[in-house]
Amino acid sequence: MSPASILPTPPRFPRLLLPQTAPANAADLNAAISAGAFTALRTAIEGLKADGVIRVLTESGMRGRGRGGVPIGQKWQACARAAGETHYVVVNAYQSDPAVLTDRVLLESNPFAVIEGAAIAAMAVGANEVIVALRAEAVETIRILEKAIAAAEAGGYLGENVLGSGLEIRFSVRPLRGSYMLGEETVLLKGLEGKRGQPEQQPPFTATRGLFGAPTLIHGPQTFAAVPTILAGGIAGFPETGPRTFAGTVMVQISGAVAKPGIAEVPFGVTLREVLDVAGGVPAPHKFKAMLVGGPSGAFLPEDALGVGFDHDSLESAGAQVGSGSIVVLDQHTCVVDLAATLTRFCADEACGKTIPCRIGLRRLAEIGARICEGEPRGDEIGRLTDLSLDVAASALCDHERKATLSMLSVVRYFRDELDAHLLRNACPAGICHPKADTRAGTVS
Ligand code: SF4
Repeated sequence: MSPASILPTPPRFPRLLLPQTAPANAADLNAAISAGAFTALRTAIEGLKADGVIRVLTESGMRGRGRGGVPIGQKWQACARAAGETHYVVVNAYQSDPAVLTDRVLLESNPFAVIEGAAIAAMAVGANEVIVALRAEAVETIRILEKAIAAAEAGGYLGENVLGSGLEIRFSVRPLRGSYMLGEETVLLKGLEGKRGQPEQQPPFTATRGLFGAPTLIHGPQTFAAVPTILAGGIAGFPETGPRTFAGTVMVQISGAVAKPGIAEVPFGVTLREVLDVAGGVPAPHKFKAMLVGGPSGAFLPEDALGVGFDHDSLESAGAQVGSGSIVVLDQHTCVVDLAATLTRFCADEACGKTIPCRIGLRRLAEIGARICEGEPRGDEIGRLTDLSLDVAASALCDHERKATLSMLSVVRYFRDELDAHLLRNACPAGICHPKADTRAGTVS
């Protein structure tokens, strides 16, 4: 099992993705079937059929758990209707954020939910092939997944004649090695084609032109794992677990200055404070300073923002994003200016280089951050930082560039005092940066 513990959550938080109790052997098909696995696949094939599945998903209000939060009924419909003899389903389990293991933990603890959801998707969009793409170094995940796929094939739930219906659904696992950008869906598809990984402009969307130019339905494992619950349980209770526009649950990984770091499944829309509580809060003598929400291209939110809901719309309004599902809690010893500059540098280093505003703009942004931390500002750095961030985001070809400015912008929006301390007093309140003495003003850091 991946080295991240699953945190207990309050009884009011439903478990739709993770199993109620950790299974002794997650690839045990009989145990999974006793717990209800593949009931939804049977319902989909024998009862609902493709149109019915798409209708139920549309009515459920469910949106993809990934960065875009796209309504999944709409995406499945577009893929199903797209012209082409061959359609594909791709499970994007690459998970770019190197510090986040949520998808791996899901695949290792509940592989049949992901497999069943992806098989239902294949049936609904008319695909015969499902590809699960993940990091090559996730060897334990690959082992469990391959075992589970083999067991499902042997049981007649996948393969040439699924549940005696004549449907053919083949699964394969594709371990990939590459950069941060491989998690972006168009890059992932190029990786699967053996091509150089750079994002493509969308539209056309992958649902109509994806892998090898064929219509391709691509989601992360959490989205596929939620599908059987919706179909097997009906749609009645599903929207109640989150805001109407973001029904369901999502997995988060909480780390940093918390009592119990780990992974938790939470309903969309719970407040950041509730998520913090799941991880036991911030133990003394640490003091809460900020939450980095959304991974390396996420935003810093202050204590005042802990009432914000953990869902795409609420976080976007607060200048953050769901992103990788990572929440890093920072205490008084962290300098958000320094960390934002470091993250921006990371994003600049990981950019593929295809578009100039991203390749050059992010690097310049990181340099502005570094100058502020080093006590060498040049004129109106905050104005320059804000203008450049907006320009970079506006000219984005892909989500990487669109979101990579969030950390710096959030510092300007929420931590102006800390910026001013660096800029006006040559001081770092967290004691991390060592701004140089301003000899003109006669002050020292
Ligand atoms: S925006 Fe950045 S990461 Fe995206 S394609 Fe352009 S250079 Fe590559």
